[in-house]
Amino acid sequence: MTGFDTGVHVVYLAAAVCFVLGLHRMTSPATARRGNQLSAAGMAAAVVTTVVLLAHDRVITVTGVIVLAVGLAVGATAGLLTARRVKMTAMPQLVSIFNAVGGGAAALIAFSDAIGHVGSVALADQPVSTTLTTALDLLIGGITFSGSLVAGAKLAGTIPGRPLTFPGARVLNLLLAVIALAAALVYTTGHGGVPLLAVLTVAALGLGVLATLPIGGADMPVVISLLNAFTGTAVAMAGFVIDSTPLIIAGALVGAAGGILTKLMADAMNRSLLNIVAGGFGTGDEPAGASPAAGSGTVREVTVDDAALQLAYSHKVVIVPGYGLAAAQGQHELVELAQALTDHGVDVSYGIHPVAGRMPGHMNVLLAEANAPYTQLKDLEEINPQFASTDVVLVVGANDVTNPAARRPGNAVSGMPILDVDKATSVIVIKRSLGHGYAGVDNELYPDPKTAMLFGDAKAELGALLAGLHSYV
Ligand code: NDP
Repeated sequence: MTGFDTGVHVVYLAAAVCFVLGLHRMTSPATARRGNQLSAAGMAAAVVTTVVLLAHDRVITVTGVIVLAVGLAVGATAGLLTARRVKMTAMPQLVSIFNAVGGGAAALIAFSDAIGHVGSVALADQPVSTTLTTALDLLIGGITFSGSLVAGAKLAGTIPGRPLTFPGARVLNLLLAVIALAAALVYTTGHGGVPLLAVLTVAALGLGVLATLPIGGADMPVVISLLNAFTGTAVAMAGFVIDSTPLIIAGALVGAAGGILTKLMADAMNRSLLNIVAGGFGTGDEPAGASPAAGSGTVREVTVDDAALQLAYSHKVVIVPGYGLAAAQGQHELVELAQALTDHGVDVSYGIHPVAGRMPGHMNVLLAEANAPYTQLKDLEEINPQFASTDVVLVVGANDVTNPAARRPGNAVSGMPILDVDKATSVIVIKRSLGHGYAGVDNELYPDPKTAMLFGDAKAELGALLAGLHSYV
């Protein structure tokens, strides 16, 4: 090994260390930003070193250099601009599109590598380690690409978020899965060539679409995490195909982290992964159970002044944020209100449901942006036993994660652990109407006599509550 080769390996090793340490720092909101920067620095070093390696080995033509430079410039600029300009509310669909891009790029690497071998190395002479990883890369990358685009469109509301099915969808799904797996198997044994890979890719793309369309209701977080894990796995496969250590390590880390997140999300929803992916479970297509209260009971309204008074005279308040807070961008007003209550001697905490919002960790990111004290953020297991001793729960733009309908069978949120806000002495809900949340189910909390609705935009109502509070304390 030359000194140059050793240098390349050392940079790749350092990049891998940055990925691992960066990931570790993302375990806490306090260190997550630094962790992200560390991982990005590791990736930048790996990319620059790879470019230097290509130039050193003279394995790239001038056209190749131009294509790489243009691709890098266009990709980096597009990524930077979208990430900088994206609204916090559009972040979940952006993450889905980034997943799609990762899976698609990994699949393209495998395809281009296979085409590059045509005429130079006979397929039958290629080692199984290459043909297998090429087939897996296309299979997983193809599913990830189309599945993530559908998930992104569902999150953006471009296509309906509810389960979309049609007669024969499951049979077609099964057929596509059989075709894709058979094509992957035949290619792995050194037969079929590029045309078979094209068949495999089309089947994988179709599978991604048909597997994601029927998932809706409250199950989307699990699917998004799963697609994230798939992206990492496809990237790791691409690393094997082109023998790139940084790609293998980065892909494996994303795949493993996504896998763990998928398990956590499935547990948080009390769902089996197999049932979600097979479709039909938690999508609201079970026989409907009787809904004791939904839509029927009367709903009590509260004025801003009364709500402010109630909060001012409480000993213990739990704030439950949800997607509506992100949509209204009211996080700064919320944290200001919580701080004013804390200064007044009220015991304040935030109850964070693992799937509140539209992406894993959405509420933590939102509240961290407004500098909410981390010590006040409590997860579901920690906060649920405390509701019984809570005077007022302030639900801000959260809906599904508080719906007692989850405790009975027959609807899209059945079985999902919820924040037991109805165990508190009283509940104030800020939202604009009695409209549904993402899962499309009536919230049985609203007609509860303990509950008072403060109708309006979360940011405006929180601002008004804060002003009201200042006039009492
Ligand atoms: P929900 O989607 O259940 O409800 C959000 C509520 O916010 C709506 O009912 C809406 O009511 C209200 N709202 C919207 N805009 C505003 C506004 N400007 N001001 C005040 N309120 C507003 O949110 P939750 O966080 O409770 O639950 C998340 C749901 O999303 C779960 O079903 C989860 O499974 C799903 N999901 C989660 C993902 C994740 O990774 N976290 C990913 C994909 C889906 P109104 O219109 O009346 O104001």
